[in-house]
Amino acid sequence: MAAILDRYTREQSRTDLAIRMIGHEARTYLIRSCTGLSEDRIRKLYNVYFRQEGIPISRHRGKTPRQPEYFTRTVTTQLESTTFIRVCLAAGLVQVKRNNRVTARMGSNSTEYGQRFCNAYDAYLTLHNPPALSFERAWNLVDALCRGHVVGMSTCRRCEVAFLADTLGLQEPICPACCLRSLQ
Ligand SMILES: [Zn+2]
Repeated sequence: MAAILDRYTREQSRTDLAIRMIGHEARTYLIRSCTGLSEDRIRKLYNVYFRQEGIPISRHRGKTPRQPEYFTRTVTTQLESTTFIRVCLAAGLVQVKRNNRVTARMGSNSTEYGQRFCNAYDAYLTLHNPPALSFERAWNLVDALCRGHVVGMSTCRRCEVAFLADTLGLQEPICPACCLRSLQ
């Protein structure tokens, strides 16, 4: 009996997570990698919980947007991206090692990662609404940061706070908050 209950709980949490991710307009392949549910099952969940209920949710097709330059393009996106990374730290998704190197704390293809990521994204939404980062952009931000691809954490020369920076940039590291302050 315990084994059956265990299985039920696991199934239930995978379904809950899939519904949550559909609500954030995540692409099917991301939902599949976290929940292990089939494409068909995900489509049915979307139909039952969103389409038939008249809840307007976009289903994005094709490849997810992957331009790491996006995160440091404006002071606003840079500030929000920095906030999101801090939330991810608190959610136990990533860790910061020496020299501001960010690494993943767990593989991204698990229900636990998906749940923690949704928690982090919901926390970010309460701070920035409307958000500069869509769910998928936020997902790719963590991915790019852990791979050290174009973006990385840097320490501000003025206030010494760690922030998300363009690692290809040659300017001295000044955080978005200090940039805004100097504009005033
Ligand atoms: Zn600063």
